[in-house]
Amino acid sequence: MKKKDQALIFELSREGRRGASLPENDVPEVDVEDLWPDDYVRTKEPELPEVSELQLVRHYTALSKRNFGVDSGFYPLGSCTMKYNPKINEVIARMPGLAHLHPYQPESQVQGALQLMHELQESLAAITGMKEVTLQSAAGAHGEWSGLMIIRSFHESNGDYNRTKVIVPDSAHGTNPASASVAGFDPVTVKTDERGLVDMDHLREVTGEDTAALMLTNPNTLGLFEEDIVEMAEIVHSAGGKLYYDGANSNAILGKATAGDMGFDVIHLNLHKTFTGPHGGGGPGSGPVGVKAELVPFLPRPLLVKEDGQYKWDYDRPSSIGRIKPFYGNYGINVRAYAYIRSMGPEGLHQVSEDAVLNANYLRKRLERYYDIPYPQYCKHEFVLSAKRQKKLGVRALDIAKRLLDYGIHPPTIYFPLNVEECMMIEPTETEAKETLDEFADAMITIAKEAEEDPNLVLEAPYETVISRLDETKAARKPVLTYQEQ
Ligand SMILES: *Cc1c(COP(=O)(O)O)cnc(C)c1O
Repeated sequence: MKKKDQALIFELSREGRRGASLPENDVPEVDVEDLWPDDYVRTKEPELPEVSELQLVRHYTALSKRNFGVDSGFYPLGSCTMKYNPKINEVIARMPGLAHLHPYQPESQVQGALQLMHELQESLAAITGMKEVTLQSAAGAHGEWSGLMIIRSFHESNGDYNRTKVIVPDSAHGTNPASASVAGFDPVTVKTDERGLVDMDHLREVTGEDTAALMLTNPNTLGLFEEDIVEMAEIVHSAGGKLYYDGANSNAILGKATAGDMGFDVIHLNLHKTFTGPHGGGGPGSGPVGVKAELVPFLPRPLLVKEDGQYKWDYDRPSSIGRIKPFYGNYGINVRAYAYIRSMGPEGLHQVSEDAVLNANYLRKRLERYYDIPYPQYCKHEFVLSAKRQKKLGVRALDIAKRLLDYGIHPPTIYFPLNVEECMMIEPTETEAKETLDEFADAMITIAKEAEEDPNLVLEAPYETVISRLDETKAARKPVLTYQEQ
């Protein structure tokens, strides 16, 4: 039976079978050779599988069942905020008046679309405590880079060319030091102390006249709120640096606190995380950047503005870092985020943080007897545990992650952040029911017991998936991306 499930479309191919019927041609035929240079014209028919429509439907349906998404099961992937993507967002994003617009239509014809973007900008500015927001950046990392380029332009506009360093905590998301580098800065690491928070003495030591910015995630990637944030802002600002907030996952502070009030000058958000844009598989995302008044002149060009009741693109921005994305950014994701914010309202968003934090703490509490919890204080939207104890039995975080697949659960993030041994980073999000959280906790507890009683069972998992344990190195180095006859 299993074999039959997996019959691949190339094996089903029979000469002459067709899965599509096209209408009769009603336009004059042209010779491709007349349109394209010879080099570009195909000389051999493409080798495509020839199957019936039903076989094709079954092929794609079977492929879709191999996938694991937030619509198929629990997905506690720490730092990724794999929350439910409400279907109302999809309905709205597909409305013809939004979906069928052309980016070259004149402003006068797309006032509604621009109004939506402008209102989204204003909502995000209110949520983050910033003066102005751009929707151009296409993802979190792109937002980080743009934000840092804004900071760089600000310093340079003051004739301040020696601020070459960007301070990044050792628990930061890997994109932070990478973005700092790409923006032409040298990333400098600041240590985490025994509380799991930024080591303040170390921060004082590394901050100076060469500091361009401190990049911080708050709550940090251990899921802990940086309590000393006001003092950090003071240290960095008094040295002339700026504060950058990585707001990719704002699930714990939505409607509770703003980056602006905490003293930050720039923030990026991930609409594909906190604001329910679907993600995974590489996008499309949206990573809007918000800035305080002083940095507004440096925002990417053009900026969407409202003048005399009309929305328009303002290109006349001489200090801008320039355009960073063609046309309207990833408009569809922006529409989804707008639909989400409008359907939730301020109270709804406030409730998101309450529930996200409650769910994470509930799981932390249920698992604390079975796994080491390196930072046992209350967490925000996520927490880390360490499989140190299980490692002594020969079972590592990777093995636990693989075994979870047999219980129908997507594994949490593993081995991140780097400063926790055998780390598993768990983010349940607010959209899960208590029964689902319990199912996950029960599975984790069962696996902890299996590790003690029958470690081999865990080491050889998964058993229930289409493909069993992969050779991870080979899969990364020599991926097989096309059909190959067995
Ligand atoms: C996901 C994430 C990013 C990067 O966002 P992308 O959209 O994947 O580029 C940056 N920082 C944090 C904390 C994140 O969780």
